[in-house]
Amino acid sequence: MAKLGNPQETIRILQKHDFHFQKKFGQNFLIDPRVLDKIIEAAGVDSGDFVLEIGPGLGTMTQCLGERARRVLAVEIDKNLIPILRETLADYDNVEILHGDILKQDIQAIADSYNGGEPIKVVANLPYYITTPIIMSLFESRVPLANVTVMVQKEVADRMRALPGSRECGALSLAVQYYAKPYLAANVPPNCFMPRPKVGSAVVRLDCLARPPVQVRDEKLMFRLIRASFNQRRKTLLNGLANSAELDFSKEEIRRALEERNLPPAVRGETLGLEEFAGLADEFWRLRHP
Ligand code: SAM
Repeated sequence: MAKLGNPQETIRILQKHDFHFQKKFGQNFLIDPRVLDKIIEAAGVDSGDFVLEIGPGLGTMTQCLGERARRVLAVEIDKNLIPILRETLADYDNVEILHGDILKQDIQAIADSYNGGEPIKVVANLPYYITTPIIMSLFESRVPLANVTVMVQKEVADRMRALPGSRECGALSLAVQYYAKPYLAANVPPNCFMPRPKVGSAVVRLDCLARPPVQVRDEKLMFRLIRASFNQRRKTLLNGLANSAELDFSKEEIRRALEERNLPPAVRGETLGLEEFAGLADEFWRLRHP
């Protein structure tokens, strides 16, 4: 089977199988071999690794992973791509294809059975419509992860790396930085994909932290606080948290918690970092566990 990752071979396979792109699955296939090299390089895949690939598409990156890794599992939701993948990956006996939705897989069971529970690497040119749910479900599953190397929209890559107080900083920035250290590996223009996306993309490697950078009694409560703060950016933290459907603290309780953490009632949530949110979450936790 010829190597994919160039426009000619991609078009040949698409035509041979009469494949039609499905917008609802966020299908933008990579057609630039230099970008493929950059992703594999950034992920640091070597012959001892098990790699989980999300959304293999035609199998372009999967071929490269199959050449470098010990074992690869590629999870693809589009049933029309499965016969194509069986053909393009026929020469790789270390690659398995699983037809399904990544959000419905038991990633812990995958890590256990394919890698003896040792930290796995995840590599993906992500479908942009579910970038955040995929990243968050990987982290929140608490599966041992070595790193997660993903192609995302440039704007999402910027948000992942944004510092507290900056314009780009949002709930995703703090969530990613709680679990991992993000690195920008490459900027990728629209002409490296077929069909071309409307926006620029970037490859980001998330190096998963052995321990979170802050200690907090109730992680879920902290993330509810973070989401509530960023959902209501224009409000003060006091009003934003009081109006949030995700929290059930009275205005008086919120005022008290802010005071305990030496935060003025007019402070805006977007200026706070993980340390402050963890401290605040602990105050709220104490209110419910006197
Ligand atoms: N990896 C290929 C490449 O780089 O050429 C394709 C990348 S394309 C941006 C995203 C892929 O993810 C598509 O093949 C799409 O069908 C698949 N996909 C979309 N949603 C998915 C889901 N929930 N679970 C698994 N795969 C999904």
